[in-house]
Amino acid sequence: MTINRRVFLSGLAAAPAAALGSGFAGTGWAWAAAGTAAAVTHSFTLGDAKITVLLDGHLPLGTQLFNGYDAAKAGTVLAQGLHRLQDGGLQIPVNGYLIERAGQKLLIDTGTAQLMGPGLGALGAGLAAAGAAPESIDTVLLTHIHPDHSGGLITPEGTAVFANAELVVAQREWDFWHDDAVLAGVPESSRGFFDIARNSVAPYASRLKLLQREEEAAAGFTALELPGHTPGHTGFMLDAGSEGLLFWGDLIHSAALQFALPDWTIAFDTDPAQTAATRRRMLDRAAADNLLVTGAHLDFPALGRVLRQGEAYAYQAAPWQFGI
Ligand SMILES: [Zn+2]
Repeated sequence: MTINRRVFLSGLAAAPAAALGSGFAGTGWAWAAAGTAAAVTHSFTLGDAKITVLLDGHLPLGTQLFNGYDAAKAGTVLAQGLHRLQDGGLQIPVNGYLIERAGQKLLIDTGTAQLMGPGLGALGAGLAAAGAAPESIDTVLLTHIHPDHSGGLITPEGTAVFANAELVVAQREWDFWHDDAVLAGVPESSRGFFDIARNSVAPYASRLKLLQREEEAAAGFTALELPGHTPGHTGFMLDAGSEGLLFWGDLIHSAALQFALPDWTIAFDTDPAQTAATRRRMLDRAAADNLLVTGAHLDFPALGRVLRQGEAYAYQAAPWQFGI
């Protein structure tokens, strides 16, 4: 099957509750304004690592996709954080990362490529701007197999972009998207979403590392199980010698709302209750341990720390020049 926008839309629009969470209607998605997404990168050093944040673009996310959305509560939180709604939704950044360390080049997530419209898909341009040819990437760590994270693994023709890379993903995540029993329960109109997931990882089947637990994902990176958003959703903790950084994937989709309202889940969460519990557990730890954190959907350049505020949290963004 050719992966294209139509397939992605049909997959999302009728995705089953078992796969993507209840309440998903697909109505919150709209393509970003026409135009070619340009390279946007931010590099900094951390311990013995050089890290480049790669902005893939911004995804319009309708407020109706938040479970239990309350306009009054949201309005207060958004105003406090200098955020605003645009066309009835929020602009959600999509970030990936290049980590250069000990002679190795590693990616965490790969952006959307051509799957989600012209306002996204800039991660490849960012990599080029950072001087990293796709064939020079040694390892790709995937937080989960959603199209804004795995889309960049393949060309429009379905071949591997990263010809020499080992792909690392949680076994549980791999199994979910490849489970024919799950797929059999999915309406015909929803199967495109599974097709996209399977197609994006298929060229890497012979050079795959499937994580069984919280183990070493790659040299210097420890996998952290963060289930809920997807069954095998995974964070990665980098030990860069003197400093560390937690890459938490989709622990937060909207920094504008979910630090203050951590129990608000989103239609793409496979298990909303588990998502909220995992979020609180990880945010508690991040705050208690004063961790430096980054996330796929935190506002670029997506580096900061978590503060505890009563029963909720706040995000303190690092200064732009951090680590330079
Ligand atoms: Zn995501």
